[in-house]
Amino acid sequence: MVKLGIDLGGTNIAVGVVDEQYHILGTASVKTDLPRSAEAIADSMKEACLLALGEARLTLNEVSSVGVGTPGAVNEEGVVEFSANLGFLDTPLRDLVEERLGKPTYIENDANCAALGEAVAGCGGGVKDFVAVTLGTGVGGGIVLDGKLLTGINGAAGEIGHMVLEKDGIPCPCGRCGCFEQYASATALIRQTREAMEQDREKTSRLWALAEGDHGNVNGLLLFNAAHEGDERALQVLDKYLDYLAEGVADLINIFQPEVLCIGGGISKQGDFLIAPLTEKVEGLRYTKHSKKQTRICAATLGNDAGIIGAALLADVK
Ligand SMILES: [Zn+2]
Repeated sequence: MVKLGIDLGGTNIAVGVVDEQYHILGTASVKTDLPRSAEAIADSMKEACLLALGEARLTLNEVSSVGVGTPGAVNEEGVVEFSANLGFLDTPLRDLVEERLGKPTYIENDANCAALGEAVAGCGGGVKDFVAVTLGTGVGGGIVLDGKLLTGINGAAGEIGHMVLEKDGIPCPCGRCGCFEQYASATALIRQTREAMEQDREKTSRLWALAEGDHGNVNGLLLFNAAHEGDERALQVLDKYLDYLAEGVADLINIFQPEVLCIGGGISKQGDFLIAPLTEKVEGLRYTKHSKKQTRICAATLGNDAGIIGAALLADVK
Protein backbone atom coordinates (compact mmCIF):
# COMPACT_ATOMS: atom_id res chain seq x y z
CA MET A 1 0.00 0.00 0.00
CA VAL A 2 1.03 3.62 -0.50
CA LYS A 3 0.14 6.89 1.19
CA LEU A 4 -0.62 10.26 -0.35
CA GLY A 5 1.15 13.32 1.04
CA ILE A 6 -0.26 16.73 0.13
CA ASP A 7 1.67 19.96 0.68
CA LEU A 8 -0.92 22.71 0.44
CA GLY A 9 0.83 26.03 -0.19
CA GLY A 10 -0.31 29.53 -1.05
CA THR A 11 0.96 29.12 -4.64
CA ASN A 12 0.94 25.37 -5.39
CA ILE A 13 -0.68 22.17 -4.19
CA ALA A 14 2.07 19.53 -4.36
CA VAL A 15 1.24 15.84 -3.96
CA GLY A 16 3.48 12.80 -3.65
CA VAL A 17 2.70 9.09 -3.64
CA VAL A 18 4.86 7.71 -0.82
CA ASP A 19 5.69 4.03 -0.33
CA GLU A 20 6.53 2.20 2.90
CA GLN A 21 10.27 2.98 2.51
CA TYR A 22 9.41 6.72 2.26
CA HIS A 23 10.26 6.86 -1.45
CA ILE A 24 8.18 9.14 -3.65
CA LEU A 25 6.77 7.07 -6.54
CA GLY A 26 4.90 9.85 -8.32
CA THR A 27 4.28 13.58 -7.94
CA ALA A 28 1.94 16.25 -9.24
CA SER A 29 1.51 19.97 -8.68
CA VAL A 30 -1.45 22.20 -9.47
CA LYS A 31 -1.99 25.89 -8.78
CA THR A 32 -3.73 26.85 -5.54
CA ASP A 33 -5.05 29.87 -7.44
CA LEU A 34 -6.09 32.01 -4.47
CA PRO A 35 -8.49 33.45 -3.53
CA ARG A 36 -10.83 30.46 -3.81
CA SER A 37 -13.27 28.65 -1.53
CA ALA A 38 -12.01 25.75 0.59
CA GLU A 39 -14.31 23.42 -1.40
CA ALA A 40 -12.72 24.47 -4.70
CA ILE A 41 -9.23 24.06 -3.22
CA ALA A 42 -10.18 20.58 -1.97
CA ASP A 43 -11.38 19.71 -5.50
CA SER A 44 -7.94 20.72 -6.82
CA MET A 45 -6.27 18.64 -4.10
CA LYS A 46 -8.18 15.59 -5.33
CA GLU A 47 -7.21 16.37 -8.93
CA ALA A 48 -3.52 16.60 -7.96
CA CYS A 49 -3.77 13.30 -6.03
CA LEU A 50 -5.19 11.50 -9.07
CA LEU A 51 -2.47 12.99 -11.31
CA ALA A 52 0.27 11.84 -8.91
CA LEU A 53 -1.25 8.34 -8.72
CA GLY A 54 -1.36 8.28 -12.53
CA GLU A 55 2.34 9.09 -12.67
CA ALA A 56 3.03 6.26 -10.23
CA ARG A 57 0.77 3.96 -12.31
CA LEU A 58 -1.40 3.29 -9.28
CA THR A 59 -5.04 3.92 -8.35
CA LEU A 60 -6.86 4.98 -5.18
CA ASN A 61 -7.33 1.25 -4.42
CA GLU A 62 -3.66 1.07 -3.43
CA VAL A 63 -3.86 4.10 -1.11
CA SER A 64 -4.16 3.44 2.64
CA SER A 65 -4.34 7.04 3.86
CA VAL A 66 -3.98 10.69 2.95
CA GLY A 67 -2.01 13.35 4.84
CA VAL A 68 -2.23 17.11 4.38
CA GLY A 69 0.22 19.80 5.46
CA THR A 70 -1.37 23.24 5.50
CA PRO A 71 -0.31 26.70 6.62
CA GLY A 72 -2.03 27.78 9.83
CA ALA A 73 -3.08 26.20 13.10
CA VAL A 74 -4.95 22.89 12.84
CA ASN A 75 -6.99 21.51 15.76
CA GLU A 76 -7.68 17.90 16.75
CA GLU A 77 -10.90 17.83 14.72
CA GLY A 78 -8.94 18.51 11.52
CA VAL A 79 -10.22 22.08 11.33
CA VAL A 80 -7.86 24.85 10.18
CA GLU A 81 -8.77 27.44 12.80
CA PHE A 82 -6.94 30.23 11.01
CA SER A 83 -4.65 30.57 8.02
CA ALA A 84 -3.83 34.06 6.81
CA ASN A 85 -2.17 32.66 3.64
CA LEU A 86 -5.16 30.64 2.48
CA GLY A 87 -7.93 32.83 3.91
CA PHE A 88 -9.20 29.91 6.03
CA LEU A 89 -11.18 30.51 9.20
CA ASP A 90 -12.55 27.45 11.04
CA THR A 91 -12.31 25.47 7.79
CA PRO A 92 -13.04 21.71 8.15
CA LEU A 93 -10.31 20.79 5.67
CA ARG A 94 -9.85 17.19 6.82
CA ASP A 95 -13.52 16.39 6.16
CA LEU A 96 -13.48 18.17 2.80
CA VAL A 97 -10.54 16.04 1.63
CA GLU A 98 -11.84 12.82 3.19
CA GLU A 99 -15.21 13.23 1.45
CA ARG A 100 -13.52 13.61 -1.91
CA LEU A 101 -10.98 10.78 -1.71
CA GLY A 102 -12.80 8.33 0.58
CA LYS A 103 -9.63 7.55 2.56
CA PRO A 104 -8.71 8.16 6.20
CA THR A 105 -7.24 11.66 6.15
CA TYR A 106 -4.86 13.36 8.60
CA ILE A 107 -4.01 17.02 8.65
CA GLU A 108 -1.32 19.07 10.35
CA ASN A 109 0.51 22.38 10.10
CA ASP A 110 2.94 22.36 7.14
CA ALA A 111 6.06 23.22 9.14
CA ASN A 112 5.25 20.36 11.53
CA CYS A 113 4.86 17.99 8.56
CA ALA A 114 8.27 19.03 7.20
CA ALA A 115 9.83 18.42 10.64
CA LEU A 116 8.25 14.96 10.82
CA GLY A 117 9.49 14.12 7.32
CA GLU A 118 13.08 15.08 8.20
CA ALA A 119 12.88 13.27 11.57
CA VAL A 120 11.72 9.98 10.08
CA ALA A 121 13.01 9.90 6.51
CA GLY A 122 15.62 12.69 6.33
CA CYS A 123 18.58 13.75 8.46
CA GLY A 124 16.93 12.40 11.64
CA GLY A 125 16.99 8.85 10.29
CA GLY A 126 14.14 7.80 12.58
CA VAL A 127 15.25 9.33 15.90
CA LYS A 128 12.44 9.87 18.41
CA ASP A 129 13.45 13.32 19.68
CA PHE A 130 14.03 15.88 16.97
CA VAL A 131 13.81 19.63 16.43
CA ALA A 132 13.69 21.29 13.00
CA VAL A 133 14.69 24.92 12.47
CA THR A 134 13.96 26.28 8.98
CA LEU A 135 15.67 29.51 7.91
CA GLY A 136 13.57 31.23 5.26
CA THR A 137 11.47 34.38 5.10
CA GLY A 138 10.94 33.76 8.80
CA VAL A 139 12.24 31.06 11.11
CA GLY A 140 9.91 28.06 11.09
CA GLY A 141 10.15 24.88 12.99
CA GLY A 142 8.69 21.71 14.33
CA ILE A 143 9.28 19.58 17.38
CA VAL A 144 9.05 15.79 17.52
CA LEU A 145 9.15 14.30 21.02
CA ASP A 146 9.07 10.54 21.60
CA GLY A 147 8.10 10.09 17.94
CA LYS A 148 5.07 12.39 18.16
CA LEU A 149 4.63 15.94 16.93
CA LEU A 150 4.34 18.52 19.66
CA THR A 151 1.18 20.42 18.76
CA GLY A 152 0.08 22.01 22.05
CA ILE A 153 -3.56 22.45 23.05
CA ASN A 154 -4.52 24.25 19.85
CA GLY A 155 -2.18 22.93 17.15
CA ALA A 156 -0.05 26.06 17.29
CA ALA A 157 3.03 24.77 19.18
CA GLY A 158 6.48 24.97 17.65
CA GLU A 159 6.52 28.64 16.62
CA ILE A 160 10.17 28.85 17.43
CA GLY A 161 10.73 31.95 15.28
CA HIS A 162 8.91 34.05 17.85
CA MET A 163 11.10 33.42 20.87
CA VAL A 164 12.32 36.84 21.94
CA LEU A 165 16.11 37.17 21.86
CA GLU A 166 16.30 40.95 22.31
CA LYS A 167 13.73 42.67 24.48
CA ASP A 168 12.80 45.95 22.75
CA GLY A 169 14.63 44.71 19.66
CA ILE A 170 13.57 44.77 16.00
CA PRO A 171 9.73 44.89 15.62
CA CYS A 172 8.14 41.65 14.38
CA PRO A 173 4.83 41.25 12.49
CA CYS A 174 3.63 39.03 15.39
CA GLY A 175 3.34 42.18 17.53
CA ARG A 176 6.38 41.70 19.75
CA CYS A 177 9.90 43.03 19.33
CA GLY A 178 13.21 41.22 19.11
CA CYS A 179 11.95 37.82 17.90
CA PHE A 180 14.48 35.11 16.89
CA GLU A 181 13.39 35.34 13.25
CA GLN A 182 14.17 39.06 13.06
CA TYR A 183 17.85 38.10 13.57
CA ALA A 184 18.24 34.56 12.26
CA SER A 185 15.98 34.17 9.18
CA ALA A 186 17.42 34.26 5.67
CA THR A 187 15.57 37.57 5.28
CA ALA A 188 17.38 38.94 8.34
CA LEU A 189 20.73 37.81 6.90
CA ILE A 190 19.99 39.71 3.68
CA ARG A 191 19.11 42.83 5.71
CA GLN A 192 22.30 42.50 7.78
CA THR A 193 24.34 42.12 4.58
CA ARG A 194 22.81 45.27 3.07
CA GLU A 195 23.48 47.23 6.26
CA ALA A 196 27.13 46.17 6.18
CA MET A 197 27.37 47.23 2.54
CA GLU A 198 25.93 50.66 3.39
CA GLN A 199 28.67 51.13 5.98
CA ASP A 200 31.30 50.28 3.36
CA ARG A 201 31.26 53.71 1.71
CA GLU A 202 34.39 53.06 -0.35
CA LYS A 203 32.68 49.95 -1.71
CA THR A 204 35.88 47.95 -1.27
CA SER A 205 34.28 44.71 -0.09
CA ARG A 206 33.57 41.82 -2.44
CA LEU A 207 29.91 42.14 -1.45
CA TRP A 208 29.55 45.20 -3.68
CA ALA A 209 31.32 43.49 -6.58
CA LEU A 210 29.21 40.33 -6.32
CA ALA A 211 26.05 42.45 -6.10
CA GLU A 212 27.22 44.36 -9.20
CA GLY A 213 27.10 47.64 -7.29
CA ASP A 214 23.38 47.30 -6.42
CA HIS A 215 22.46 46.17 -2.94
CA GLY A 216 19.05 45.21 -4.35
CA ASN A 217 20.85 42.19 -5.84
CA VAL A 218 21.73 40.75 -2.42
CA ASN A 219 20.23 37.31 -1.85
CA GLY A 220 20.77 34.60 0.74
CA LEU A 221 23.75 33.10 -1.03
CA LEU A 222 25.69 36.24 -1.96
CA LEU A 223 27.07 36.68 1.55
CA PHE A 224 28.30 33.09 1.60
CA ASN A 225 29.97 33.54 -1.78
CA ALA A 226 31.85 36.60 -0.47
CA ALA A 227 32.76 34.70 2.71
CA HIS A 228 34.15 31.85 0.58
CA GLU A 229 36.41 34.42 -1.08
CA GLY A 230 37.67 35.47 2.35
CA ASP A 231 36.03 38.92 2.33
CA GLU A 232 36.51 40.40 5.79
CA ARG A 233 33.23 42.32 5.92
CA ALA A 234 31.23 39.28 4.80
CA LEU A 235 32.90 37.14 7.45
CA GLN A 236 32.00 39.74 10.12
CA VAL A 237 28.33 39.79 9.05
CA LEU A 238 28.23 36.00 9.07
CA ASP A 239 29.86 35.76 12.50
CA LYS A 240 27.32 38.13 14.04
CA TYR A 241 24.43 36.31 12.32
CA LEU A 242 25.70 32.97 13.64
CA ASP A 243 25.92 34.43 17.16
CA TYR A 244 22.17 35.08 17.07
CA LEU A 245 21.34 31.78 15.41
CA ALA A 246 23.44 29.96 18.01
CA GLU A 247 21.61 31.65 20.92
CA GLY A 248 18.24 30.46 19.61
CA VAL A 249 19.49 26.97 18.77
CA ALA A 250 21.11 26.63 22.22
CA ASP A 251 17.78 27.63 23.83
CA LEU A 252 15.99 24.92 21.87
CA ILE A 253 18.60 22.32 22.81
CA ASN A 254 18.47 23.32 26.47
CA ILE A 255 14.68 22.94 26.55
CA PHE A 256 14.16 19.80 24.45
CA GLN A 257 17.54 17.98 24.39
CA PRO A 258 16.73 16.36 21.04
CA GLU A 259 18.95 13.68 19.54
CA VAL A 260 19.12 15.68 16.31
CA LEU A 261 18.50 19.36 15.60
CA CYS A 262 18.11 19.96 11.90
CA ILE A 263 18.72 23.25 10.08
CA GLY A 264 16.69 23.63 6.87
CA GLY A 265 16.10 26.29 4.23
CA GLY A 266 18.16 27.34 1.21
CA ILE A 267 21.19 28.53 3.19
CA SER A 268 21.45 25.27 5.19
CA LYS A 269 23.56 23.81 2.36
CA GLN A 270 26.47 26.08 3.42
CA GLY A 271 27.95 23.40 5.69
CA ASP A 272 31.48 24.71 6.25
CA PHE A 273 30.24 28.27 6.70
CA LEU A 274 27.01 27.51 8.55
CA ILE A 275 26.59 24.13 10.24
CA ALA A 276 30.24 23.79 11.33
CA PRO A 277 30.67 27.26 12.93
CA LEU A 278 27.13 27.10 14.35
CA THR A 279 27.93 23.79 16.05
CA GLU A 280 31.10 25.30 17.53
CA LYS A 281 29.25 28.34 18.90
CA VAL A 282 26.42 26.22 20.32
CA GLU A 283 28.94 23.99 22.12
CA GLY A 284 30.00 26.99 24.17
CA LEU A 285 26.42 27.96 25.02
CA ARG A 286 24.65 24.76 25.91
CA TYR A 287 23.68 24.03 29.46
CA THR A 288 24.73 20.38 29.30
CA LYS A 289 28.40 20.90 28.45
CA HIS A 290 29.38 17.86 30.51
CA SER A 291 26.71 15.37 29.39
CA LYS A 292 27.97 12.30 27.53
CA LYS A 293 25.10 12.51 25.05
CA GLN A 294 24.88 15.68 23.01
CA THR A 295 22.49 16.88 20.32
CA ARG A 296 23.80 16.55 16.78
CA ILE A 297 23.25 19.60 14.53
CA CYS A 298 22.68 18.58 10.89
CA ALA A 299 21.54 20.14 7.62
CA ALA A 300 18.14 19.05 6.29
CA THR A 301 18.38 16.51 3.46
CA LEU A 302 14.89 16.23 1.93
CA GLY A 303 14.39 19.81 0.70
CA ASN A 304 10.84 20.43 -0.52
CA ASP A 305 10.01 16.72 -0.29
CA ALA A 306 10.06 16.91 3.53
CA GLY A 307 6.56 18.41 3.65
CA ILE A 308 5.07 15.78 1.32
CA ILE A 309 6.74 12.82 3.05
CA GLY A 310 5.89 14.19 6.50
CA ALA A 311 2.23 14.68 5.52
CA ALA A 312 2.09 11.09 4.27
CA LEU A 313 3.59 9.89 7.57
CA LEU A 314 0.90 11.60 9.70
CA ALA A 315 -1.14 8.37 9.63
CA ASP A 316 1.66 6.63 11.59
CA VAL A 317 1.96 9.19 14.38
CA LYS A 318 -1.58 10.52 14.92
ZN1 LIG B 1 7.57 37.57 16.34
